[in-house]
Amino acid sequence: MQARTFPVPAAEGGWPGRNPGSGGERHNGGFMEVSFRREIELLRLGDGAEFRGEGILAVAKALLQAGVSYIGGYQGAPVSHLLDVAVQARDYLAELGVHVEACANESAAAAMLGASINYPMRGAATWKSIVGTNVASDALSNLASAGVVGGTLIVLGEDYGEGASVIQERSHAYALKSSICLFDPRPNLPTIVDLVEQAFELSETSNMPVMMELRIRACHVHGRFRAKDNRRPLISRNARLHGPPEFNYDRLSHPPATFRQEKLKADVRMPAARKFIGDRNINEFIGPVRGEVGLVVQGGLFNTLIRALQQFELADIGGRTKLPVLVLNAVYPLVPEQITRFCAGKRAVLVVEEGQPEFIEQEIATILRRGDVQAALHGKDFLPMAGEYTVETMLRGLLVFLKRYGSGGNIAAVENWVREIEQRRGDAQHLLGDLLPTRPPTFCVGCPERPVFAALKLVQQEFGPVHIAGDIGCHAFATFEPFSLGNSILGYGMSLASSAGVRPMMATRPIAVMGDGGFWHNGLLSGVTSTLLNRDDAILLVFKNGYTSATGTQEIISTPLQTEQPVDVAQAQRSRTHTDRTIERTLTGLGVKWLRTVHTYRVSEVMKTLRAALTSSYSGLKVIVAEGECQLERERRVRPLMARALQRRERIVRTRFGVDEDVCTGDHSCIRLSGCPSLTVKTSSDPLKIDPVASVNHGCVGCGLCGEVAHAATLCPSFYRAEIVQHPTGWDRFLDRVRMGAIRLMQRRAVIS
Ligand code: SF4
Ligand code: SF4
Repeated sequence: MQARTFPVPAAEGGWPGRNPGSGGERHNGGFMEVSFRREIELLRLGDGAEFRGEGILAVAKALLQAGVSYIGGYQGAPVSHLLDVAVQARDYLAELGVHVEACANESAAAAMLGASINYPMRGAATWKSIVGTNVASDALSNLASAGVVGGTLIVLGEDYGEGASVIQERSHAYALKSSICLFDPRPNLPTIVDLVEQAFELSETSNMPVMMELRIRACHVHGRFRAKDNRRPLISRNARLHGPPEFNYDRLSHPPATFRQEKLKADVRMPAARKFIGDRNINEFIGPVRGEVGLVVQGGLFNTLIRALQQFELADIGGRTKLPVLVLNAVYPLVPEQITRFCAGKRAVLVVEEGQPEFIEQEIATILRRGDVQAALHGKDFLPMAGEYTVETMLRGLLVFLKRYGSGGNIAAVENWVREIEQRRGDAQHLLGDLLPTRPPTFCVGCPERPVFAALKLVQQEFGPVHIAGDIGCHAFATFEPFSLGNSILGYGMSLASSAGVRPMMATRPIAVMGDGGFWHNGLLSGVTSTLLNRDDAILLVFKNGYTSATGTQEIISTPLQTEQPVDVAQAQRSRTHTDRTIERTLTGLGVKWLRTVHTYRVSEVMKTLRAALTSSYSGLKVIVAEGECQLERERRVRPLMARALQRRERIVRTRFGVDEDVCTGDHSCIRLSGCPSLTVKTSSDPLKIDPVASVNHGCVGCGLCGEVAHAATLCPSFYRAEIVQHPTGWDRFLDRVRMGAIRLMQRRAVIS
């Protein structure tokens, strides 16, 4: 059944859920749409049971085994699952007395750790680093200055290297500047779990907070460990305190206490931390006790190092090595006696330390000079200063080191290996040449944000290029082709603030683009209030898709409440973002006078609104709220309902778009305005058409953009909208027969004429 109609985007309309309103009751107690039922079962494992799973979940379990009173954080790869699981396990955690807080940003999460300044409560916070640590740094400085009596652990997703999604900097700098202990555990589940427990003890012994950096590979490494019973915290939701402790000015990070706190850091806390790390053997000496040369490695890089040493036949798959290796599971502070003991009597030591600057290497150099240890020190002279230390990178560095000191290993085998890699890489490059286009990451199929950038692209044809202040979130995909929109990214929720210096200098108003996640994370305060305070002439475009989608579609304060009542599929298919007006009410409440809400899929309307913002005589802040539910989340919501309805043999209608290949001329302007992965090309069946024609594949979710763009950009009329009806009614069948009859009639006439 086909209908050549375009106007109604599939993802619009009403939703029968309750609207909690601004600051109203929380959505289903923080319910997140992805289910972690299986993972929650793992958290319940008792003494002796075997835990099998990934590293970051092992950390979640270890926190409960360590008896934490509270967990907070802000989601972000690669540690999102820790908070996601804790939030979904709230009921179980409440039984234990553990409080969970999905914080509005990392700053709030770090401030939450302040609970352990006065009270002997263990607490944990988690976020993505380096960006999250940047946001949290003010609270972290204050926390570290005051010091803690309850153990505090910050689990950092060290998003560094291949696959990272943020600026490449090291969390290590924060440990140094604020005097916070830093663990970098060997990616091995029993080690990680043990170190979580030790981290709390270290924190309580030294009064220092402890950070644990977990790289992508450590978070997602799979393994097993013997579980222990979860510990009910002594102070908890179920065992409450009866009041604050006696007033103690030293607990405040405020002068004059801060001067004493600085001395405490150097004279008391740091020595206590070093002693603990040494006494508890947090760092591991692996391999032979003696040797001509030795390797010092960050714990998190140990597995890669072993893989590299295997190529030299200097290690086996079980991690046994023929070279002495010092594995630094605690990378800050270092224990000078451990370093001198390891290096003494060796000709040379290679420090394997990822990222820049080489903090560890520099500290080791100081320790060796002060201890008058004569071992030659190498590190960044043989290994690259920047970038991930992959097996190949390590191999190349080790090759130079081992050749220089003639320290054994199958050098010839590794040289061959490196040659082969280079050969293969060269062959691949030669074969591929320009044949394959690069494939930049892009929005999901049917994403509500894509139509807005199509509109923005079209509007720029009228106004010329406009300065776009970009932000963090899914909308950053618009920086890639086919849109290539965005002139700067200054951080999460920072776009409007980042356009403040550009705005007064531009003939055409710049546009700051921000997601609703960024809006609540930082954008409201840093951008909106600052702009209002200065009465700036500015444009803010907020994507209201209902979630912090880029971090895994977690809820925000403006996520519409889910209905607990069963809904029919037709209702569920509609977007539900517009049932929540928290963003609009907040902006109006702050005094924003120019505010428009548009449906993202209505490209012409979005264009009209953008034009209005760019040309308005109003000189204050102009905000466009572009609403359309995150397609990923919508699909998650709709598909199970649809499957159940199909089982009940109910009538289901799905929308798909297609391209009439007889009409398509193959100029692909639709693709240049969309970039939807479902809108692709295929060879035309018409031998007279040389260029491939546009084609919509089966991934299309019928978002409506294809039709909308065809209209808004006055493209060719090749697109059609099809409604696929499953379990049709008698009326559907009748209509289908009439339509097919009419089409056959017209086709016959066309052939005759
Ligand atoms: S996750 Fe949602 S908002 Fe992000 S690209 Fe996908 S559909 Fe768009
Ligand atoms: S092919 Fe077109 S209608 Fe289908 S999902 Fe992609 S943009 Fe939407």
